[in-house]
Amino acid sequence: IYMSIKTVNPTTNEKLQSFDEMSKDEIEAAINQSEITYQSWRKTTYKQRAVLLHKVAEILRIRKEELAGLITLEMGKLIGESRAEIDLSADIFDYYADNGEKFLADKTLKPEFGEAFIRHSPIGVLLGVEPWNFPFYQVARFAAPNIMIGNTILLKHASNVPQCGIAMGEIFKEAGAPEGLYTNLLIPGDKISKLLSDDRIKGASLTGSEKAGASLAEAAGKNIKKSVLELGGSDPFIVLDDADIEKAVYWAVIGRMNNTGQCCVAAKRFIVMESVYTEFLTKLKAAFQSLKVGNPMDDDTQLGPLSSQDALSDLSDQINKSVKAGAKVELGGGRIDRLGAYMEPTILSDINKNNPAYFQELFGPVALLFRAKTIEEAINLANDTSYGLGASIFTSNIKQGKLLADQIDAGMIFINHPAWTQPDLPFGGTKRSGYGRELSESGLEEFINKKLIRTS
Ligand code: NDP
Repeated sequence: IYMSIKTVNPTTNEKLQSFDEMSKDEIEAAINQSEITYQSWRKTTYKQRAVLLHKVAEILRIRKEELAGLITLEMGKLIGESRAEIDLSADIFDYYADNGEKFLADKTLKPEFGEAFIRHSPIGVLLGVEPWNFPFYQVARFAAPNIMIGNTILLKHASNVPQCGIAMGEIFKEAGAPEGLYTNLLIPGDKISKLLSDDRIKGASLTGSEKAGASLAEAAGKNIKKSVLELGGSDPFIVLDDADIEKAVYWAVIGRMNNTGQCCVAAKRFIVMESVYTEFLTKLKAAFQSLKVGNPMDDDTQLGPLSSQDALSDLSDQINKSVKAGAKVELGGGRIDRLGAYMEPTILSDINKNNPAYFQELFGPVALLFRAKTIEEAINLANDTSYGLGASIFTSNIKQGKLLADQIDAGMIFINHPAWTQPDLPFGGTKRSGYGRELSESGLEEFINKKLIRTS
């Protein structure tokens, strides 16, 4: 069903503001301007681009309180986490401003005959489709590297965070970006595929669900365009016999509960060795129970609402079906009896292969707990998923942790830490979690023409 573009506060269910989607003519004008600007932006120097990106970072920091408040208003993130997201986004813009030129420098080759080098050239107008869970970070990790390369950006944000989307467009303007360098598109997701057939758009990146990703990639493929997909995950969090259990529980809570559990790289499946299973469960339960539920705008709140009532009902549905199929509810399992999209911290166990939750992504404060008798069984469980985004292994034997990392089919393996992100580390997955990488030097390699120049 068509969901209009609007702000609904998930803490109060109040509908605050709705926005008209752009008309056909407005979309045409936006693509046209983006292409015109590309033709001049591609000729700017890395230094000029870096000045702009630093300015964007500076404005993000100056407007932090206001922007963090907007995130929390539109999708319910805890205000402290919203502030941290703005800081991280600013760091990403600075990172590419500081390192882009070095990473994009010509690369000398040593062919058998003659001289040759690779020049890193931009490719043109790009389309970014971003989700609501990190309304500024998701945009930063797509926009910053590509603007540094010399590409221009059309950005379609999720329909439930329109004000965050508009704010980012304004920030670029305030930073002095030429019109068309970064354009916020107010259009619904089902209008995206068609845009890929426009010759001026040269590539697209999407973070979101498998369904949206497949639809975008299909349209990109049909039009012979590059795409990058960062889709869901059901990350394993493996706790070995020799792990420091206190530490594992501490990180398990953060890994699962950050952003109220709505992270693609959240720890979702806790795979715990038999010998430490009961201790881990008891401590995890106590930690989940102690979380202070409240208004996400309050600094001392530890568990806020999900992003929307729809998200709450979808997740409740998944839990109910899982319990019906035999899952044991160790904790929680239902919505919290208060206004807003609140879900109880939940732990489910006894999930066998016939249980739908075994293969699903649960996007909220719900931990699935599995017991493993041997390390081999733990690894098999970890890999028994269509996803392959992140994974973590808790062990006091780092050497063994690294060996086991080899056996896990995921894009990012963290030892003694939940999967997470920083500007200088690559982010992305394998299998149905998508393809391509964002951030670090890798984030500069996706939408680029690695042009060979050869002299004889
Ligand atoms: P969606 O995939 O629907 O939304 C993500 C983005 O894709 C939005 O901008 C959305 O626009 C857009 N979109 C939707 N349909 C299409 C389409 N056919 N073609 C192109 N773009 C499209 O995610 P939801 O918000 O519905 O969340 C559903 C599930 O997706 C979550 O429960 C979670 O499992 C996963 N997800 C994963 C995320 C991640 O970080 N990897 C982030 C968000 C969700 P619009 O809002 O206008 O529909």
